Amino acid sequence: MRLCRFDAGAGPRHGVLEDGYVADRDNREHHRVDEIRLLAPVRPRKYLAIGLNYADHIAESGMEAPQYPVFFNKQITCVVGPHDDIHMPRVSSLLDYEGELAIVIGTRCRHVPVERAREVIAGYTITNDVSVRDWQVRTPTMTMGKSFDTHGPLGPWLVTPDELRDPHDLPIRTYVNDELRQDGNTREMLYDCFQQIAHLSAAFTLEPGDVIATGTPAGIGAVRQPFPEGLLKIGDVVRVQIDGIGELRNTVVEEPEGYLAPETEVEAAWAG
Ligand code: MG
Repeated sequence: MRLCRFDAGAGPRHGVLEDGYVADRDNREHHRVDEIRLLAPVRPRKYLAIGLNYADHIAESGMEAPQYPVFFNKQITCVVGPHDDIHMPRVSSLLDYEGELAIVIGTRCRHVPVERAREVIAGYTITNDVSVRDWQVRTPTMTMGKSFDTHGPLGPWLVTPDELRDPHDLPIRTYVNDELRQDGNTREMLYDCFQQIAHLSAAFTLEPGDVIATGTPAGIGAVRQPFPEGLLKIGDVVRVQIDGIGELRNTVVEEPEGYLAPETEVEAAWAG
């Protein structure tokens, strides 16, 4: 099953996608998928991401394979929809892409054994772990450079585990303006999806909607020569494709005046 959030003009709704149509989950309405705006399929409370999780990406980064999984946080205000714009920051021009498979948690859980991790997954989607390279390396946590507003596109929908049976055999590709930049397969992960859930849940509770970005294969812009030609520029269109899920498609624009990330549900509840 493919689950989405969308806006057909009346605000966010939940839907089920089938044969090019989105069925509103709560009423009888159907919409053609090309006539609505797809939103990020979830509004996560946590957005965790693993770094250095593909051998070819570790090699291109000039790093050693980490002894333990290297996780960082992306602030949830960075999440945008599958076709929304990515902002070129006012404070940096070192903007880069990282196409990744994303896990969405479906069950509140803690201390999940690897062999049972499959049971807590609501589904899989695609993310672009957009990164501001100079800000990323200024602090060991990487959080600042990974969390700029709009730098967490998610979507286009959630594919449930019964439809996507093996998350560890999925071709993943990233294009910049139709040029193939990343061409990997999720089987090349050092720590697979289930190991990542086991590791994270050893420390804290995972909750429904939490997102885990599972790492990026080789081909990031920062290592292309001559530097900084491989990085993103205003007007670039970045597409991340994962077979069996779909495609993210985002355009890089100048950071607009007065942008504020969409309100989180917690803020909305307090305001009410
Ligand atoms: Mg990444």
